[in-house]
Amino acid sequence: MKNPEIKTVQGILELRELRKNLPAPVGLIPTMGYLHEGHLSLVKQAKEECASVVVSIFVNPSQFGPQEDLSSYPRDLQRDLQLLQETGADLVWNPTTEDMYPQGYQTWVELEELVKPLEGSMRPGHFKGVATVVSKLFNAVQPMKAYFGQKDAQQAAVIKRMAQDLNFPIEVVICPIVRAEDGLALSSRNIYLDKNERQAATVLYRSLQAAREAFGSGERNAGNLRHIVSDMVNREALAKLQYVSCADAETLGELERVSAKALLSMAVYFGKTRLIDNIILE
Ligand code: AMP
Repeated sequence: MKNPEIKTVQGILELRELRKNLPAPVGLIPTMGYLHEGHLSLVKQAKEECASVVVSIFVNPSQFGPQEDLSSYPRDLQRDLQLLQETGADLVWNPTTEDMYPQGYQTWVELEELVKPLEGSMRPGHFKGVATVVSKLFNAVQPMKAYFGQKDAQQAAVIKRMAQDLNFPIEVVICPIVRAEDGLALSSRNIYLDKNERQAATVLYRSLQAAREAFGSGERNAGNLRHIVSDMVNREALAKLQYVSCADAETLGELERVSAKALLSMAVYFGKTRLIDNIILE
């Protein structure tokens, strides 16, 4: 059966009007667009669990650092709408920067501890932008469920904490990482990679898998697990490791030994392109 025509809105008031008529429960998938199967897996899960599925597409300037790729971030709204139509989303909200941050804007959401390590330490202010925009999306759409990917593991932890701390009546659902056949986690930023870099980028998942194997054979020393990853990445000529972490999956604090659930995560540069990936060890 053909999906009904997808609706798109830009302004917050218009969004609110359409939101009123959406059958409950409503699921929200926040994205920055340039959609791939990773995003669509969130839409599909939302469709299974909710009567209405809203997807937001907004490249949020406040989560990009001054040296980051805001202006070059890939965008293709027509293609995104086509994919969302095929996947069966009901409503796409595509606000402008003016809609989200009008003149005089000055209110921000900040977390204290969870944002300090990992991505937060490499990208100062990033999670302030993320927590703020997601709060605004939550308030505008008022979904019952919101879907995020494990690909951005620290973001998932931050949003869960924020939703709890600020009493959002929203269930935050974290979905598994969707990968290409060769293991590379799907990302809108993969488009930046040239052919050789794309090939080299398989080292992220290969190195995580090598550490998972060692863990499976009984390795519990977090330093050794980090070393397995860094050693493999350092042997890949086109890759430049920014960090590798083996942290407590709840607190994100760096571990000496893995005893409970651990998050093994990394960020690697290929030229100017920065990729992240992670696995859970338990
Ligand atoms: P983005 O457009 O990069 O902000 O991503 C929007 C949402 O899709 C976030 O919750 C991401 O974690 C999630 N996502 C991105 N890539 C993947 C992937 N490969 N697998 C699963 N979820 C993903």
